[in-house]
Amino acid sequence: MLKKRGISQLDYIIITHPHLDHMGELPYLIETIKIKHIIIDKKSFTRQQLSKLEIQCQQYKIQLLDFRQHPQLFFGDVSINLIDTIIENSVDLNEHSIITYIRVNGHSILLMGDATSNNESIFLQNYNISNVDILKIGHHGSKTSSTAAFIDKIHPKVSLISAGKNNMYHLPNKEVVDRLNAIHTNLFQTSESGNVTITLHDELKIYTDVIK
Ligand SMILES: [Zn+2]
Repeated sequence: MLKKRGISQLDYIIITHPHLDHMGELPYLIETIKIKHIIIDKKSFTRQQLSKLEIQCQQYKIQLLDFRQHPQLFFGDVSINLIDTIIENSVDLNEHSIITYIRVNGHSILLMGDATSNNESIFLQNYNISNVDILKIGHHGSKTSSTAAFIDKIHPKVSLISAGKNNMYHLPNKEVVDRLNAIHTNLFQTSESGNVTITLHDELKIYTDVIK
């Protein structure tokens, strides 16, 4: 996908949490694309995972950064906040997801990783973020995320769910989809739309592989 778009270099990759569906392709990406920085939560990785990644980063001259040391990144008029709602003693690695809040050109974007309802309540308590333009729904639209309280406060104009077609978990969850439809968000699911591309000029423009 990146290659198809002529992207041969990435300044930053954020690995939300060490689950295979979020980093399985990382060794391949490192080998095929010039990457400058990778941001992770080092504490969420096992010693073995971390040393493997460190060795590969060294080999390819990539800076491996811990998100706690870099909670804010600025690129021109783009600001990126890496939000910490991690529940360190949780055995559920989804609850170790780094949440990313991006502001660009007057638009706001919130990317939830696989954060669960427990992370969402920490988020609501600690961060005053609401009414975002684009929300990447947590955990592929599973019912462990996207509580009514969270969706009501965040109230996204556009919602994105990443889920494979006919996936074995039957994601997204119907209750989550109903909850999103109830707030009249413009919902896109990769299982229906294929790739979803959004351009962030003055007006948001959304392109999908499959027209809905
Ligand atoms: Zn996932």
